[in-house]
Amino acid sequence: MSDVVNHLIQVDISPGIQVGGFHYAVDTSKEAHKRLRASNVHGQCDFFNQIISVDHDLNDVEFSSTFIHEVIEAVNYHYCADNIAHDQISQLEFGLHQVCESLGVRFGK
Ligand SMILES: [Zn+2]
Repeated sequence: MSDVVNHLIQVDISPGIQVGGFHYAVDTSKEAHKRLRASNVHGQCDFFNQIISVDHDLNDVEFSSTFIHEVIEAVNYHYCADNIAHDQISQLEFGLHQVCESLGVRFGK
C-alpha cells in the first residue's frame, strides 16, 4: 500500500464555508490582497462580518495552509470561546495542512 497520493483534489472555496450557524464568505480579491499586505499578513478572519480573506498572491501550498489557518480561527471563535492560543492555531494549521496534503486535498482560489 502506497502512502503517496498522486491525485490532487483542489477544493473550490469561493462559495464560502459554514462555521456553526454562520456563513463565512471568502475574499481573495485584489482589495483583500492590498489590505492583507498593508497589515503584513497572509490571511485574516473577520468574525463580525464573517469574512475570511486570503491573499491570492500566495503560492498554492501557502494559500491552502493560510485558508486552513483562518478556518481554525473561525472554529476557535465559534466553538472554543476563543480559548485556543494563536501559536496553537498555527500548529494546528501546519498539522491539518500536512494531513490534507497527504490526502491530496488542497484548498484553492
Ligand atoms: Zn491567525
